[in-house]
Amino acid sequence: MQDKLRRRYQIHKEVSRGCSYGGKIRVRDLTRLAEFLYSDDATIEVEFEFIRSEYDAPMVKGRLDTSLLVECQRCLKVMEKPLAIDFSLLVDAVDELVTESSLDTIYSQDGYVDIFEVAEDELILGLPLVNMHDDVACNKYWSAQEQEPEATLENPFSVLDKLKIN
Ligand SMILES: [Zn+2]
Repeated sequence: MQDKLRRRYQIHKEVSRGCSYGGKIRVRDLTRLAEFLYSDDATIEVEFEFIRSEYDAPMVKGRLDTSLLVECQRCLKVMEKPLAIDFSLLVDAVDELVTESSLDTIYSQDGYVDIFEVAEDELILGLPLVNMHDDVACNKYWSAQEQEPEATLENPFSVLDKLKIN
């Protein structure tokens, strides 16, 4: 049922064949995603299929499973962020269709869809803006750091000194 993973698929051929695909993508091959991570040492399991959607556009539908290494914003140590993302994307749909279906669309390049780019975009969108350990006490200094620095009032005489210099 599943063929070996390639990077690019010709959309209309795939829709008529009705095949599904699965495989692994290395994060180090996704350089835009890697910029958000602590390390690019991870793999993404991907499975997807091209289908004729109920709308007037083909669709790529699938799932991504991975665990990425990110930096905890509380303790600055590395942590694993498991992500499982289901996606359903229209291909080359016109704007009205996107609004009507409330689905996102991707655009083919000369009729080809790059599944690595699809996976990369979905993971960048799916990654939380701020990652933190579930344990709120992962950084014991955190509560001290979080306090507002004391407002420093300028000594009125130092202002006068500055005026004198000018
Ligand atoms: Zn932490």
